[in-house]
Parts: sequence; C-alpha cells; structure tokens
Amino acid sequence: MTVELRDPGPQPDTYDPDWVHAKYAFERAKRLRRDGLDQFVEVTAEFSHYADDLYTERTERDPVDDEVQVLVIGAGLGSLIAAVRLREAGFDDIRMVDKAGDVGGTWYWNRYPGAQCDVEAYVYMPLLEELDYIPERKYAFGPEIRKHCVRIAEKYDLYRNSLFQTAVTGMEWDDDAGKWTVTTDRGDTITATVVVVSPGPLSRPKLPGIPGINEFTGHTFHTSRWDYGYTGGGEENWELTGLADKTVGIVGTGATALQCVPHTGRFAEQLYVFQRTPAAVDVRGDHPTDPGFAAGLKPGWQKERIENFTHWTSGAGAEVDLVSDGWTKVSNDLTTPAVLREMARRTEPMTMEDIGEFLYEEDFKSMEAVRAHIADVVDDPETAKALTPWYKRMCKRLSFHDSYLQTFNRDNVTLVDTDGRGIERLTTDGVVVGGTEYKVDALIFATGFEVGTNYTKRAGFDIVGRNGIRLSDKWAKGPRTLHGLQTHDFPNCFFLGYTQSGIAPNYVHTAEERAGHLAYLLGRWRELGGGVIEADQDAEEQWCTAMADSTVVGKQFFLDCTPSYLDSEGDNDNPDSLLVAGYGGGPIAFFDILRQWREAGDMAGVSVSGGAPAAPGR
Ligand code: NDP
Repeated sequence: MTVELRDPGPQPDTYDPDWVHAKYAFERAKRLRRDGLDQFVEVTAEFSHYADDLYTERTERDPVDDEVQVLVIGAGLGSLIAAVRLREAGFDDIRMVDKAGDVGGTWYWNRYPGAQCDVEAYVYMPLLEELDYIPERKYAFGPEIRKHCVRIAEKYDLYRNSLFQTAVTGMEWDDDAGKWTVTTDRGDTITATVVVVSPGPLSRPKLPGIPGINEFTGHTFHTSRWDYGYTGGGEENWELTGLADKTVGIVGTGATALQCVPHTGRFAEQLYVFQRTPAAVDVRGDHPTDPGFAAGLKPGWQKERIENFTHWTSGAGAEVDLVSDGWTKVSNDLTTPAVLREMARRTEPMTMEDIGEFLYEEDFKSMEAVRAHIADVVDDPETAKALTPWYKRMCKRLSFHDSYLQTFNRDNVTLVDTDGRGIERLTTDGVVVGGTEYKVDALIFATGFEVGTNYTKRAGFDIVGRNGIRLSDKWAKGPRTLHGLQTHDFPNCFFLGYTQSGIAPNYVHTAEERAGHLAYLLGRWRELGGGVIEADQDAEEQWCTAMADSTVVGKQFFLDCTPSYLDSEGDNDNPDSLLVAGYGGGPIAFFDILRQWREAGDMAGVSVSGGAPAAPGR
C-alpha cells in the first residue's frame, strides 16, 4: 500500500484502510521534527531551578566516609522492592541513597494536583499483603502511594543508614579490593561490596526547547515540582485558591496533564491548555474500594492478581480477568486473544498478512470508540475536533480519565491546539501559537521526562568499571547487559528499571521480577563465597542478540505512529530508545526466561570468583 504524505480529506463513511493509513501517516508527518530528542532542554544550568526540591527543606550534615555491603542508588519503588527482597534474603547491611528528601521516587516528586496511578492500586502498590494494607480506591492517588512507600521503608528498616538529599556523583571499581567507591555531592566516600543502580526510568524532568523559553518572566514550574506556594493548596489539598486571579498556561496533554488540568481549570481565572498531539482519552471508571473486597481475598492474592494483569496486558490472556479495566479490555480487543477468536470464527486459516489487517481494523474500531467518546463529552464541536487523536491505540501509553475532557466545557478553559507543530515561541509574558499571543501569569510544563538518552547522562553520574572502562563508553550505543541486570567489566553492579528486560505496563511487576532475580543472584554469590560476581562477555553478547532480534516487530509497529517518548520522537534506530529496552517477546516470556535460568541452577553466563565464604548477613 502506498501512503502519500498529504491530507487524505474527510473520513469515509465506511472503514477504508487506505484512508486510515494515509491519515495516520499525514498526522505523523506533521508532528515529526528534525531535531528529535534535541528539541528538549535539560533542567541544568540556567534551568536547574526546575529540578529543585520544593517539598523537603535541605538539612546540612557532615560527609560520610564508611563501608556498606549493599548500596542502593535510588529510593523509588524499584529500589524499595529490591531492598525488601534482599532483606528477606538475609542481607542486613543495606544503604539507600537518593537525591530526594525521602523514599518514593516518582511518587516523591510528582505531587501535582490529581496525581494518580493509572494502573489498578491492588496490583501497583507493592507488598500489600506483607503490610496488611488495602488501598482506598481502585486507582490510588499520589499521596496514598507515597505514604505506602514510607510504610515499606519503616517496616523493613530501610531508613537505617540511608542518605537522602544526596546525589551520587561517581562510582569506581577497585579491582584489588573487589569493591566500589561511590562519591556524592555531599562529599561522601562510600565503599560498597555491591551496588544496585536504580535511578528510575522517568526521573529527569525535561522542558521543551521553545524559542524564548528563557525570556518568559512569569511564574513557571514543571509538574514534577508543583509549586503549591504559588497555586495555593497542598499535596493533599487540591484547592488551588492562589490561582483565582491568574491566567495559567499548561503545556502538554500527556498522562500528567490529563490529571492536573481538571484541578487547575477549576481554580484558575483562565486556563489555556497548549496541545501538540491530542491524548486518546478513554473512560476510567475509578471507585472507592468495596468494603467487602478484603474479606474475599486469600493468601497469595496479590501475586496472583499482579501476574494475571500482566498476562492480560501482554496478550497472553488467562481464564479470568481479575482486574477487568481499560488496560485489560484494550489488550483483549487488540492483541493475541482477539486473533485467536477471529481464527476460530473464520473457516479459512489466517495468513500473517490477514492477522496484520485484522488487528489494524480492530485498532481503528477501538480508536473510533475513543473519538466518539470525545465527541460525546465535549460540548463545543471545534474543541472536540481538535481533541480528537489520529494514531493507533498502542502508539502512546493508554490514557484514562473521567474529568479531563469535561474540563474543556468550562467557560474559563481554552484549548489552544498547535496542530502537531508545538508552541511557536514564548514572549516575556505570553505564549505564541499560530501568530496569536496568549498572555499568561504562569506557565506550567507538563512536558514529561528525559527518555532515550544515554543511561549515565540520565543517571547523572558515570560508572568506571574494571581497567578504567567507563559505562558511558561501553553503553555509547545503548545498554549491553545479561538479562538487563549485569554488564561485563562492571562486577558486583546490578541495574534495576527497564534496561533490556521485560517491560510490563505495571512497573511494579517488572520491579518485583528483577528484585527476585537480584536476590537469587546475590544469594548464590554469598553461597559461593562472595567475592566478585560478573556477567560473562559471551552471555552478554547472546542476550544483546536476543534482545535485538526480539524488538524487530515492535520497531515495525511504531513506523506509522505519532512520535513520542516511547519511540525517541520517531527515531526507531536510537539504541537508547525505550522501544528497544523491552524484550520483544513480552514481559511474561522474559520473566519465564529468568525463572528457567534460576531453575537450571548453574548460573550460566555469570561467574563468581575470588571470595572467602561469607558469614550469614554479610
Ligand atoms: P509525556 O511525555 O507523555 O507528555 C509530554 C507532553 O508535552 C506531550 O503532550 C507533548 O506533546 C507535550 N509537549 C512537548 N513539547 C511540546 C512543545 N514544544 N509544544 C507543545 N507541547 C509539547 O509526559 P507526561 O508527564 O504526561 O507522562 C510521562 C509518563 O509518565 C507517562 O507516559 C507515564 O508513563 C508516566 N505517568 C504515569 C502516570 C500513572 O498514572 N502511572 C501518571 C502520569 C505520568 P506530544 O504529545 O506531541 O509529544
């Protein structure tokens, strides 16, 4: 099929795949930019105040110069889960270090009004059974999740020895000592036998490099550093009374904007929402937890529910759909289960081409339902039209919200659509789109986080391994690991997060699986006498090849997608892209690979050498 990059005209009355392909390609072409990831500016130098911590007052302390067995860099959910699993495995001497003033990672920083997890709380909030806690609602708000992180740290004694408001600045392997030396911006020098690196996949706020961004003199901040001092209200009180006489602009219409726009719209005298690409907003259907929910739960329920959710959302299906929400419905409609149903319905076998066409049409139907929902909810037809997305459903992270679209029915809220091109420029007191200047008192950047750049740049420090090899050099063309956790020449160092692993929509499932694998590896390392544990070069090469082979289909899928952080702004060849970070066979297949590897028990591709038998707990 030839796709021409021109507006294919009005939508035909019946499904016409040529028209849909042409329309999607046209919308993608409008949105694609030559500068790709370079369109964003980092929150450093003149923009560094955008990353300031507004939530915890800085406390001065003396530098630390000591030794720990396990140093965990980062104190977000992935690190907390890993530290808990290590504690359970008998590792006592653990220290967490984080830039933030407390644990929580993304939930420490993202305190904007309306912050909520879009994955069901019963599968997203970890360790619910261990903490005997039942979330208040099906989809938890940010403060509840952040407090849950604090509860985890308290229960597992993870505050002991931890260092907050502390950024790691360097990490170097000492081959003679068989240990790491880690330095921080507080002048600390910490020797660690094992380091677990977990800076978080979406942790560095980014700003759009809009011409004039440093000329704007009004109040500005990024959503992940919400300034309640300016807006009024607070983390748990979203009455933004300080905006009553303010004209506010919000830049961006991603998952974050969906959640903070309704609250800002309710309080600002005037709100302009600057849109580049509309979100495909579907119905959320949130509700408080049924009082009878906990009564019906049997031990092991959370693990079962987490696994069930990942089965559904990765197209693996299962007999029952325990979570039964927008995520599982879309997966059921648009992935393998739908194909299997169609195969059973047809009398002729389906070719790969048939399957592709079938899924494309199903995706179109799913997007038509989203588009119809928008038209239903939004009163003004022009605004509804501008809010209508034209791309495949899975091109962006799925979006659900029950008051975002409705906010555009308010008289004080205006959508300023940039038709895929973005904001033209900022002036000292306004935003220019299509030659029109919109004067604003404050500009809030809901513009997301740095993704798809070099790992060490995002982490904020380099790692120097054996023989002075720098991780920034070794991973100059993307991460190279065994199973995403270890990399050759960097012994006793383990990575969490999304590097070269199975990415489940529920981050907590990925984090749990990696934490379990880490605990296994370190348990075996201790049994084998400690010392040096390292991925073999060959095994690493094999995993990199498996990863590359597995991501071919996913890369193909994104070729006609609207650009986003998922595909590095349309750069499918970027080796640091999130698109190639996930094992293409899906999270369930990846978790199975890890499980089978552990069950084999031979530590294939991982060497442990040079240690003396360690005492339990050390
Ligand atoms: P995103 O990167 O998804 O969105 C950034 C927004 O800024 C986009 O709408 C983008 O437009 C817009 N933008 C960027 N540059 C410009 C410009 N020059 N002019 C106009 N608009 C511009 O960031 P979010 O913070 O919304 O979400 C990031 C991720 O964080 C989510 O996908 C999700 O993984 C996570 N998240 C999770 C939540 C949860 O519930 N679990 C809640 C919130 C966030 P365009 O679309 O055209 O690129």
